[in-house]
Amino acid sequence: MATAIVVGGGIGGTAVALGLIERGWSVRVLERATRYTEVGAGISLWPNALRALDVLGVGEAVRAQGLDDVSAGIRDERGRWLSRTDVATMRRRFGAPVMIHRAALLDILRAALPEGVVETGISVERADLDGTVVHSAGSGRDMSEVTADLVVGADGIRSVVRRAVCGEVAPRYAGYTVWRAVVGIAEPLTEFGETWGRGARFGMAPLPDGRIYCFAVYDAEEGVGGSFAEVRARFAGWHHPIPALLAAADPSTVLHNDIYELPALTTFTAGRLALLGDAAHAMTPNLGQGGCQALEDAVVLSRLAGTTDGLSRYDFERRPRTQMIARRSGAIGVVAQLSARPLVAVRDAALRMTPASAQFRSLGKVLDWVP
Ligand SMILES: Cc1cc2nc3c(=O)[nH]c(=O)nc-3n(C[C@H](O)[C@H](O)[C@H](O)COP(=O)(O)OP(=O)(O)OC[C@H]3O[C@@H](n4cnc5c(N)ncnc54)[C@H](O)[C@@H]3O)c2cc1C
Repeated sequence: MATAIVVGGGIGGTAVALGLIERGWSVRVLERATRYTEVGAGISLWPNALRALDVLGVGEAVRAQGLDDVSAGIRDERGRWLSRTDVATMRRRFGAPVMIHRAALLDILRAALPEGVVETGISVERADLDGTVVHSAGSGRDMSEVTADLVVGADGIRSVVRRAVCGEVAPRYAGYTVWRAVVGIAEPLTEFGETWGRGARFGMAPLPDGRIYCFAVYDAEEGVGGSFAEVRARFAGWHHPIPALLAAADPSTVLHNDIYELPALTTFTAGRLALLGDAAHAMTPNLGQGGCQALEDAVVLSRLAGTTDGLSRYDFERRPRTQMIARRSGAIGVVAQLSARPLVAVRDAALRMTPASAQFRSLGKVLDWVP
């Protein structure tokens, strides 16, 4: 039986493990963390990702967490709509997106794996082209070595597997920082989406349990994001319900990250190694596609691995698409984070005038992926 070691048990790692096991591989997932810590965040799964989840056999379980009749779009700081998403048309053309808590998504993926496939508390130190993986099981333990026919680097933006595939590649700071929270408020909300200001944005989306996933983004020096009290003050004058959501957020469960992206890699594979998800193409979250692309990668890699030239074909199929999406996501971030008043006025006017058909044309290239 062909063997695979998957480094990292996040969205991409658990998904590829599911796909490989389905095709008869013997798989071990080595995950550094001993438990999940990402408390305050939801994740949007677009129709392309849901199709990937269908192939992996968990699409229905994820869709069961979805919500219907959500109204969304982009507003300005005062709450005036700049653009409204035609959700009904989107649904008809591409399928409905799903907003889900990250922990719920990971629970579904992990529960679909056979017992014992994911081994937690194991930190991989190095991977070699011949399929050797050097790892430690917990702090203070000796290093162990194990070899497999395939090693998948699903170990995120700071991937150690990537070093063996294409040397040191430093992620670059996108120029903005993000705070994420999952909040319960008494008032039922019906309108969601993003609010674009000057050098700052706020987003909100409903979760199936009635809580709201929200995020606040603003330009900041790298590593100097401020405190949550400053976030509340910064968005205090923005339209309802933004200040109320921030007031209701529990600072102890709020997540704060500077946003990084990877420069375009020249390959995703080398020897017996293949990169997937953020390890291969960490992108800015402006399109909500990083995790979706990890799921697409997982489906394609598990289909091609073990076939003639399978890893080269995986690279050929996945690199152009993911790098195109990463470029688009970065470009949206530049526009969304504009801060000079005249440019913001032009942007807002352009948003008001852009017809829904143009939005769909551009989204189509991202959302219409079929496995
Ligand atoms: C603010 C924000 C919002 C986002 N919103 C969305 C969204 O709405 N939709 C969407 O699709 N995407 C979104 N993303 C992107 C998405 O979160 C990532 O693309 C996705 O989590 C990538 O999954 P992954 O499995 O490749 O990597 P990760 O989620 O980073 O998982 C990597 C795993 O590897 C483990 N690991 C790391 N190093 C080692 C090691 N040496 N040994 C063993 N284990 C290791 C880590 O502990 C981790 O569990 C967002 C990202 C951010 C920052």
